[in-house]
Order: sequence, then structure tokens, then C-alpha cells
Amino acid sequence: MSSTGASADEFLVEQIREGDQHAWRQLIGRYEGRLLAFARSRTARFSDAEDLVQEAFIGFAHSLAHFDSSRSLETYLFTILRYKLYDQLRSKKIEALNAPADDEDWWDRIIPEEGETPSDAAVQAEAAKTQGELLATVMRRLIHELRDRQAFDDLQVIELVFYGGWRNLRVAELLDMDQKAVAGVKFRAIQKLQKFLGQADDKELASLAEDTAEVTVARVWRERRLTCLKRSTLQAHLLDLLEEPWLSYTRFHLDAVGCPMCLANLQDLEEEEAADEHGRAAETIFQSSVGFLKTGGA
Ligand SMILES: [Zn+2]
Repeated sequence: MSSTGASADEFLVEQIREGDQHAWRQLIGRYEGRLLAFARSRTARFSDAEDLVQEAFIGFAHSLAHFDSSRSLETYLFTILRYKLYDQLRSKKIEALNAPADDEDWWDRIIPEEGETPSDAAVQAEAAKTQGELLATVMRRLIHELRDRQAFDDLQVIELVFYGGWRNLRVAELLDMDQKAVAGVKFRAIQKLQKFLGQADDKELASLAEDTAEVTVARVWRERRLTCLKRSTLQAHLLDLLEEPWLSYTRFHLDAVGCPMCLANLQDLEEEEAADEHGRAAETIFQSSVGFLKTGGA
């Protein structure tokens, strides 16, 4: 999610709100492939995945008025799709593709609980949003600092704990370290965040309650997808162009963390050669969803 990608999205959304059908077609073309890859990784039938993606776009068209375009459009679309997917899986309308039972929780937690419904407490939501932004800023700072120091071991620990929702024991086993060491890395990360927050201007928002610190950090990490890979990085990975330590780190995010959204992007890139089929599916989705845009211009 480069900044150019984000501003291109903002521009597209703006045009769509004005009722520009060409922009809507472009948006579908841009995101349909990765959403389809995500849905296909969870559903037994291809046609179910296609229907879900179609519904996700219709859902987005419906909720256009509430979408905050300063947030990641990709994450928002994945969030809508994930809700549709789980709704249908729970009601057994569709069949899951060998869903690993113990992964279910992880999946439930990995995508933020926000999205389609406007909040009834707008003021509170605004404060939470500002605090979330502040936290995201200091967390990015921490992540960059760890990368700059090449402290990838520590970064892996906190990514598994906060983004992946792993327990200390499981992290310790995977990374072949002591459980206490895992807890120590976690503790120091939160301390560092508190320190960074202490330097913030807005003291009121710059606190991380001790008892909920871990949960809050995890939520912000997932909402902002702080360590997700840029599409250009995934492309470079496919072309074997990544060098160490980025190669290992990319593999870690894909294989160990198993980030469903980055995996979907990777698969979409892999399939981009089959562009014909791609185009047809996008056209079908466009035709089925364009009618729902009318409300957006009101
Ligand atoms: Zn990711």
C-alpha cells in the first residue's frame, strides 16, 4: 500500500461518489483478483467465491457514504468480504475449503471489527480514531527502528504476537527460543511504545492502559496492517529480485504468519498472466453492481 496507491484510491472513490461508472469499473479491476484469491482460499466451490466477491463490491457500493477514504481501501474491501464469507460459512450456505479448525479464531481476530456500520457515538469514535492514528504512528516508528537495527528476531516475535495473535509458547517453539525471552521482547516493545507516546503532543490520547495494552496494540496492528507487504515487494519476490534480509522477512510474513491478505495478493499476481478470464469476471461484477452506486451521488 504505497502512498501513491492510497491517493489513487482516494481519487477513484471521489469519482465514484460523483457517479463515475468508469471509475467504478477501474476499482473493480484493481481489487477483484486479490479478493477472489482470498475467497477461493476459503471456499470449496469457485462459483461461491465469485458470488462472495460480487456481494462484497455491492456491499461497498452500499456503504460508500460511510467509507473513510483516509483508510486503506484494500483492507476495507477485505473486511467486507471476510464478513460475507463468515456469515455464509456459519449459516452453512457455502462449503468451506478444508478450514483448519484451530485457525478459526485467528481468522476471526485478524481482520478489524470495524467497517460497514456507522458508529452511533460519533464523538467517541472520533477520539478512538485519533488515538488509533497516534498509536499507529508510534508503532510504525518502533517497527522501522527494529528494521533499521536489523533486529528482525524481535520484529518477528512481536509480529507473531500482535498481528498473528500467537501465544508465547507457540512463538517460542517456532523461533526456537525461551518463553521468557518472548515475554521479554513483548514487554520491551510495549515499554518503548509508552515512551514514544510520552513524547506526543496530545497527552490525553497518548496513553496505553497497562491492562489492555496488548489488545490495543494488536488491534491497531491488524487494522493498519503495519507489516503487510507492498504489492511491489510481492512482485519483486515473485521475480526473485528480493535480497536479504528482505527475502527472509517476506517469507516470514507469508509462510510463518500466513497473512491471508498478502497471500491473496501474491496469488493474484501469480495469476495475472491469465488476464482474459480476469477481465471477464471483472465485467460481470461491474454489470451486477453498478446499479447500486446511485445512492452514492445523493
Ligand atoms: Zn500481510
